[in-house]
Amino acid sequence: MDGMLLAGARVITPGGEWPRGWIAIRGRQIDAMGQGEPPAGAQRTAEVLDASGLLALPGFIDLHAHGAVGVDVMDADPDGLRQMARFYASHGVTAWLPTTMTAAERDLTRALEAVGEVVGPVEGGATVLGAYLEGPYLSRVRCGAQDGALIRQAGRAEARRLLASGVVRVLALAPEIDANRWLVGAAVERGVTVSAGHTDATYEQALRAVGDGVRHVTHVFNAMRPLGHREPGMLGAALTAPELRCELVADNVHVHPAAMRLLLAAKGADGVVLVTDAVRATGLPDGAYAVGDRPAIQMDGAIRLADGTLAGSVLTLDQALVNLQAATGRPLAELWPASSRNAAEAIGMDGAKGTLEPGKDADLVLLDPALRVIATLAEGALVHGGDNLPRRPARRGPGNPEGVPRSVRARPASHSGRAPPG
Ligand SMILES: [Zn+2]
Repeated sequence: MDGMLLAGARVITPGGEWPRGWIAIRGRQIDAMGQGEPPAGAQRTAEVLDASGLLALPGFIDLHAHGAVGVDVMDADPDGLRQMARFYASHGVTAWLPTTMTAAERDLTRALEAVGEVVGPVEGGATVLGAYLEGPYLSRVRCGAQDGALIRQAGRAEARRLLASGVVRVLALAPEIDANRWLVGAAVERGVTVSAGHTDATYEQALRAVGDGVRHVTHVFNAMRPLGHREPGMLGAALTAPELRCELVADNVHVHPAAMRLLLAAKGADGVVLVTDAVRATGLPDGAYAVGDRPAIQMDGAIRLADGTLAGSVLTLDQALVNLQAATGRPLAELWPASSRNAAEAIGMDGAKGTLEPGKDADLVLLDPALRVIATLAEGALVHGGDNLPRRPARRGPGNPEGVPRSVRARPASHSGRAPPG
């Protein structure tokens, strides 16, 4: 068999929505795609998957995920990370960043080492693109469920050692703290995206942070100085500064649907990055769990510490997209970048991921009309579902050896994604 051919799906492309289209996959990449029925040559050289009635979107990319199915990134267990990758793939995710929380250096180092062991494609799961360091250089004033006792200022030796792991792609810090400012430029220099998170920055401090190189905002609305009409705060800067992309935890608990509408109106779909901020209890029944070292209770779609503080989420990215659509009433053809392309752009991986285009990685999710995940493909491999889709094996035969029309074939050297920082 030579490659795979998806036929009959409604396809969301950067150029617009195709009511019916086909996608030819060869190896780990999209080789060609087009509207209507696939050319006969393509059908002869590939296993054909009939995706009629389904919607093909770029695979979801979750930049900010701490755990699921009983596992947490801070467990520093490579097998645990693979379990998480498989669970996320079952919800349409094709790439993600294991995310740490505020902890002692030795615990962060162990977690980053585990990520380093798993980085890359995961069998039956979502590709690990690197790590997201949430903390420890945050604001105690806005610590949320991060351990305030372990929050600290960015010491040069420690911060350099953490970045030297070579796997960090996003670093969330409180940029208003003077002792943290040097690290913004130092991280950007290494190709790390710096995010303002768990921050008490005023509006002026937030704009200064943008000047320093901050380009991303960790779970906008949550754990930051709120918007006042005389002191717009970090939130006011996040909503109005075009340089900043905003993560959104769209679980209807972290953020009210009306606030999601406000965010979309302010930023447009290109400025919103859906993330889950999912923790260990995700994918498990309601009950008692631990977040970091602290007890937490999962109930009614939320997870909280004993004092009621939200301790991450139990959200999945497919549900986040459903919730964003319900909150905003906007069509998927407009919202789709929030679950894929914007995340890829945020970490400089958009040359390889985030859209359905020839030459990009074959990362895609097939959804039914209710937006339930039917199948997930990561880097050309079926990593979830698809068992019930009609398919037929490759038909060998004479004919077009090229397989597909030249005009829509992948162009070589279209990758502009950068190498992992380090
Ligand atoms: Zn988080």
